[in-house]
Amino acid sequence: MPIRVLDPKVVSRIAAGEVVERPASVVKELVENSLDASSSQISIEARGGGVGLIRVTDNGIGIPSTEVELAFDRYATSKIGSLDDLESIPSLGFRGEALPSIAAVAEVDIVTCAVDESVGTYISLKDGVIADRGSQGRSQGTTITVRNLLRKVPARLKFLKSTATENGHIANVVTQYALAFPEVKFTLLIDGRETLRTSGNGQLVDSVIEVYGIDVVKNMLEIKDKGWESGVVSPQVTGVISSPAVSRSGRDYLSFFVNRRWINSRLLAWAVEEAYRGLLMSGRHPIAIINISLPAKEVDINIHPTKTEVKFGNERTIFSTVQKAVRRALIELMPVPKIEEVATTYVPPSPPRQSLWTSTEVSAASPAVSSETPAVALLILRVMGQLSNSYIIAEGPDGLYLIDQHAAHERILFEKIRYQSSQHQIEVQGLLEPATFEVNPKEEEALKLHYEDLAEFGFSIEPFGDRTYLVRAVPALLQNKDWAGTVRELLASLLGRDKSDWWETIAISIACHSAVRAGQALTDDEMRELIRQLEQTSIPNTCPHGRPTIIHISTGQLRKEFGRGF
Ligand code: ADP
Ligand code: MG
Repeated sequence: MPIRVLDPKVVSRIAAGEVVERPASVVKELVENSLDASSSQISIEARGGGVGLIRVTDNGIGIPSTEVELAFDRYATSKIGSLDDLESIPSLGFRGEALPSIAAVAEVDIVTCAVDESVGTYISLKDGVIADRGSQGRSQGTTITVRNLLRKVPARLKFLKSTATENGHIANVVTQYALAFPEVKFTLLIDGRETLRTSGNGQLVDSVIEVYGIDVVKNMLEIKDKGWESGVVSPQVTGVISSPAVSRSGRDYLSFFVNRRWINSRLLAWAVEEAYRGLLMSGRHPIAIINISLPAKEVDINIHPTKTEVKFGNERTIFSTVQKAVRRALIELMPVPKIEEVATTYVPPSPPRQSLWTSTEVSAASPAVSSETPAVALLILRVMGQLSNSYIIAEGPDGLYLIDQHAAHERILFEKIRYQSSQHQIEVQGLLEPATFEVNPKEEEALKLHYEDLAEFGFSIEPFGDRTYLVRAVPALLQNKDWAGTVRELLASLLGRDKSDWWETIAISIACHSAVRAGQALTDDEMRELIRQLEQTSIPNTCPHGRPTIIHISTGQLRKEFGRGF
């Protein structure tokens, strides 16, 4: 075939493919347009996985009747005017591609009424061409209805997943923007069912309740980046993260925004997960909603038509700022778990640490509540005794504390191992006589992979032929403990695991196997020493698996339980 310039219709359909990957992409573009139009209310409706219908209605500034047609021209935008503007884009949209792309692969109706207009404009497009036009009454704002999406592009339609999956993608897009814009009232109807409604009152906490539920919110901590690192003011990291008490088995609960634009970022996901090191069981992931504010010129959003990928000018700074901000929030704000029902209205007088939203007065608890509370090490606790040979009972300035001796000791040992490892000074115990250690083929596979990793922790293991190994030394902490069982368990858990997790997996396992067990009687001195050491740890409130080490019952709670009033 000779070289020819493609027919504009073909060109627009090819270009549309870059923007409209699936129905959720249409929802994303339309919602972004509504947000750019300063809307305070946005309702989204989808039917048949978004292929049947997508309708987005807003109360934004609208499009003047003289410009409605232009909005559907390729590269027509009201948001940037020159090349210089590309350097710093304050709006979510800027490429002028969404509306024409959508119109190229669907039937589109728009009714819009701009600020000073008394009557709205109606336009209907088929195959990207205007089929009908007129006036229609409506209040200020815009409604765009998209029908039969991709019906004329069977090749692409075929790649869509089930209606339920596409609905899920749509719900996810709306959820993300509802979290990023708590001041906007969002409603989402999927096949006639209301699946999300936010109040639009500007409180992130309320949006989080709508999206994740009140139980999650009670365990969220606020990140308030105060430019703590030598007066750095940019980038600024804000948002909320889950305390280690709640976690998820997937990474789908990490939401990132850059200047409130929802983005995908493996860099940021990694930074957050790094901050949780030693706080979550392996295979568990946090919930996080994080916004990074930085001058628009320090981030390039114009690297992909869907605008969901960004390029940071200085990735290393972004990574470390996010990681440190999250880590700091975790360490400073992690609550000592309290036995208080959700319904209680009692707020203890200046608690030592408090999560952002510990009581039902969730909306009233402004984000300023907790972060000003200075981080205090554990309170001075007076040991009163041991319960079931497993829990230490102690009295503190504000009531009763129960300490899980095994979990507490695990935390202490984990931090000790971490310290020794960072100093390359892991204490090693040579065995009096080398011991033989037989492994099955699977264990052998893991052993071969993690030889050196285990050696770093003090295990000296060498091949002795025929799936038998010789162990000459073990970590000193495992002296007189079941080190063979530890190694076996480690090999099982290291197999098939992301290679990057090995350090934590080994450290946690050693801590767990060398820690004092539940059911072991402790003397008063031993209990006091355990608490003293727990106080020294950076995160005394949870064990390295993320389970609580301490439970606190305040005197207020006791008064209440005994009906003594306040
Ligand atoms: P972009 O958002 O990149 O500018 P679009 O194709 O998404 O490109 O939209 C084209 C133009 O149409 C926008 O620049 C804006 O002026 C106008 N527009 C689209 N949707 C709306 C809306 N909901 N409210 C007001 N104006 C809108
Ligand atoms: Mg747009």
